Amino acid sequence: MLKLTDVTVCYGSFTAIKQVNIEVEKGEIVVLLGANGAGKSTTFRSISGISKLAQGEIHFEELAIGGRTPDKNVQAGIVQCAEGRKLFPQMTVQENLKMGAYVHRKKKMEIKSSLENVYHLFPILKEKLHDEAGSLSGGQQQMLAIGRALMSKPKLLMLDEPSVGLAPLIVEQMFQVIEEINREGITVLLAEQNANAALSIADKGYVFENGEIVVEGTAKELLSNDEVRKAYIGA
Ligand code: ATP
Repeated sequence: MLKLTDVTVCYGSFTAIKQVNIEVEKGEIVVLLGANGAGKSTTFRSISGISKLAQGEIHFEELAIGGRTPDKNVQAGIVQCAEGRKLFPQMTVQENLKMGAYVHRKKKMEIKSSLENVYHLFPILKEKLHDEAGSLSGGQQQMLAIGRALMSKPKLLMLDEPSVGLAPLIVEQMFQVIEEINREGITVLLAEQNANAALSIADKGYVFENGEIVVEGTAKELLSNDEVRKAYIGA
């Protein structure tokens, strides 16, 4: 479904990611692991079309999308839920969700059924639909950010560190919801520092160090890899 071939992205003279090769099959959950600054978000930005490629190519559903703009990518089903949530804090929960459906704004019935789907996944958002997004707890804001991304009807959902800053119980719920979203047929690419939790739901993973992929494998292989365990799982 998604294939990155030798993707290199630079910020000025600084090379942020170098010759990155990633393959994601339809229906998979794939995790990108790595410390802060290792290159996970830049990889996401290259896929969504925000960062230009200095080298390499990206294919989505067999089409080369390397030079495509972010809006075209969203229309094609590539949707990113950015780190830090980036909600509209003074708008209500429902207004934020409807903003996520902007590309489908003419399809009123579809928007209604997408809203129902988001409320089914996150019942707390239904309870708070008229509250300002800025008044929600951290976990609820993360749920709203994911819900808003779902409103664009993604085929590929990219989640950038959805568990960051959340209490352990909420993190657990978050990963359960990601699995549920995946079971509904959405392919998931997940950047995480919480390697244990991410690998427990993932099919496979890639480990980034200084902008390069240094280890890749199935989730099972990565969970039993001593170096990965030492660096990212703490055991
Ligand atoms: P984090 O979780 O901290 O976002 P990351 O693995 O997602 O980490 P990136 O954000 O992709 O890493 O950053 C990769 C490298 O590129 C880092 O060295 C970072 O400082 C640098 N970088 C990121 N964005 C920019 C930018 N807009 N201009 C210059 N350098 C940048």
